[in-house]
Amino acid sequence: MAETGGTMESIIALAKRRGFVYPSSEIYGGFAGVYDFGPLGVEFEKNIKDDWWKTTVYEREDIFGLDSAIFMNPKIWEASGHTKGFSDPLVECKECNTRSRADKMLEDIGVVADEKMDEEEINRIFSEHRAKLKCPACGKQSFTSVRKFNLLVKSNLGDFTNNNSAPAYLRGETCQGIYVNFKNVLDSQHPKLPFGIAQIGKAFRNEISPRQFLFRGREFEQMEMQYFVRPEEEMAEYERLRAHRMNAILGLGIKPENLRWKKHEKLVFYAKEAYDIEYKYPWGFDEMEGVHARGDYDLTQHAKGSGKALEYFDDEKNERFVPHIIESSGGVGRLFLALLCDAYTEDEMGGEKRVFLKLKPELAPVRVAVFPLLKNRPELVSKAREVYVGIKKQFGNAMFDDNGNIGKRYRRQDEIGTPHCVTVDFDTLGEKPELKDTVTLRDRDTGKQERIAIADLLSKIG
Ligand SMILES: [Zn+2]
Repeated sequence: MAETGGTMESIIALAKRRGFVYPSSEIYGGFAGVYDFGPLGVEFEKNIKDDWWKTTVYEREDIFGLDSAIFMNPKIWEASGHTKGFSDPLVECKECNTRSRADKMLEDIGVVADEKMDEEEINRIFSEHRAKLKCPACGKQSFTSVRKFNLLVKSNLGDFTNNNSAPAYLRGETCQGIYVNFKNVLDSQHPKLPFGIAQIGKAFRNEISPRQFLFRGREFEQMEMQYFVRPEEEMAEYERLRAHRMNAILGLGIKPENLRWKKHEKLVFYAKEAYDIEYKYPWGFDEMEGVHARGDYDLTQHAKGSGKALEYFDDEKNERFVPHIIESSGGVGRLFLALLCDAYTEDEMGGEKRVFLKLKPELAPVRVAVFPLLKNRPELVSKAREVYVGIKKQFGNAMFDDNGNIGKRYRRQDEIGTPHCVTVDFDTLGEKPELKDTVTLRDRDTGKQERIAIADLLSKIG
């Protein structure tokens, strides 16, 4: 049987069953648009973030890390335009009260619309196509007018009144924390242009209709890098950053045919150019990461809002100017989901259907699993534990399993993407003297086993 991919349902079911992703607050009936990462999910997520940090920060000399707070002075969201412009067009079904995004409903029937359109424009288009639009929940065709709904999540942090007239927001994106620390990084690290600031962190949005599992949630994590450049070098640096990001994503092992660039048709007024890297999710190509050329908008806005100059001084040329910014902005959850979808494989092994995750070894939540051939033979178990402890010291994320027959144990590891399984058997103990202190090493993708000396294991797996 040839290898095939999975449906969204099979991928979500595996994620839940094996401890990658759980719906939030599940025993209380859940909480829309929020997910928890389980014991395997947290390892997988960490590997994804570590890889991003490695390719973004460690493998370059011009990028600094940052971990800014989730709460920031509310004036930041005024200056960035979020309190006014960060909104989605909401429409409500008059029959069942289901709220939907008007732009997505229009897109679903093939009409071009997006969240950047103003209220008047989207209402006009919505009315024009009203005959074809149905409520996704009840199928009826009776809607309120479209109104723009702000996505910022409010809190009462620091407000001890009951009216909360100046709410502190949970950040809607991590990059604002980078912009407002531009001067701090410049003054403390003294970098020359071009240089970048990278950050991984949580962000929050009041999504009207969270959907497609980790794809569009209300709480999510971003990996963003803002790169500060001389204005005249913006577009050349932009092309370089695009190439860098695509290479980094291909380096994760995602199939090239499942990736594509999509140019933004409609740009926000300050942007020079914007492309998304799209992944072919089970529902079709959709945004995974953005690479944008933003001009001097962000620093200029925060200079105006704060009254502080956010400039760069070039002492060789003796000139002072506002750097332009290019950014790469991706969601951990979107990449997590893309990698799961891309790795999910069904084939047939030994006459049985098998599910396995064809993950790059460095990303797998369990790097190596170690088994004693039989559970009830103390000499096998103690030797297997000795091998396991040695491997765990090296990789951390190793697993010991002595439960059930060996074929079942292999299948369980295949299903979570473990690239290698090591089995300690009677030959390891010296039943055949020439095989003493050797083990079998099984490959996840082919199921093939080879005999290898314990002393060679780490170099072979690493
Ligand atoms: Zn309805």
